[in-house]
Amino acid sequence: MNLLTWFDPWRSPLCTCPPKLTFNPYTGCDHKCVYCYASSYIPHFYDCRPKKDLLPRLEREAAKLKGELISIANSSDPYPTVEAELGLTRRCLEILTRQNCQIQIITKSDIVLRDIDLLRRVPSMVAVTITTDDVEIAKILEPNAPSPAVRLKTIERLVEKDLPVAVRIDPIIPYINEKPETLVKAIAEIGVKHITASTYKVKADNWQRLSLAMPKIAEKLKPLYFEKSEKLGRYTYLPKDLRLKLMENIAGLAKKYELKFAICREGLKGLNTAICDGRWLIKDLSTW
Ligand code: SF4
Repeated sequence: MNLLTWFDPWRSPLCTCPPKLTFNPYTGCDHKCVYCYASSYIPHFYDCRPKKDLLPRLEREAAKLKGELISIANSSDPYPTVEAELGLTRRCLEILTRQNCQIQIITKSDIVLRDIDLLRRVPSMVAVTITTDDVEIAKILEPNAPSPAVRLKTIERLVEKDLPVAVRIDPIIPYINEKPETLVKAIAEIGVKHITASTYKVKADNWQRLSLAMPKIAEKLKPLYFEKSEKLGRYTYLPKDLRLKLMENIAGLAKKYELKFAICREGLKGLNTAICDGRWLIKDLSTW
């Protein structure tokens, strides 16, 4: 099986991303987010391990590339805790930048700052996920990921270095983080130009974790996800009217703070004001 594959090979009708390649240097992730979706289809998910023969395989596959956009990563974080020691994502970026690929990083980690020099060699962008600016809630939802303050500082440093940054406020969970105005304001003040949002989707394992981590909130969410819910693809969604209300609220905040806004996999693309994954931010290097 190839390391580099087309993003969303199932071509879900909910996905509004234009074509791009995707690549995960690691299998699994040690950030241990309660709501993680990838854990439902990857065994031993929180036991984060590098892909087998990662570097030679990537060298072979990358030799055929011609500057395609590569999204790193969509089923794991390319900067798990172990990356600080192993440096494998950095080695992969060295290979891909040699092939002049365009790079889109998706992460929650400040380790990405180490690789600014490589990301500046090719057209690139970084999408940083911040679900909440409340440190206590973040500790429960994302126990092993860097704190919201560290992620905001990371964004600040990336913007200072002129690397385009999008922020993913994802997932939005009712009663937990559905009113992100202070976060959106902070993001805009740093100089970010794009946010992408999406609501929490239930899978059996992430629901079990959420129920254990936040039992009172899970009780309140139960009727929304198990009585009034909508089943789309392999996920259980909130009812559509509530999803629309939650996304309209964030779209309104984006407008207020002059940010582009997009929604990920909700069937609500009418609210988008930019390409959903923020790739429009990627700069032509000749203009730098
Ligand atoms: S960072 Fe992403 S891949 Fe890693 S546990 Fe959290 S949601 Fe899952």
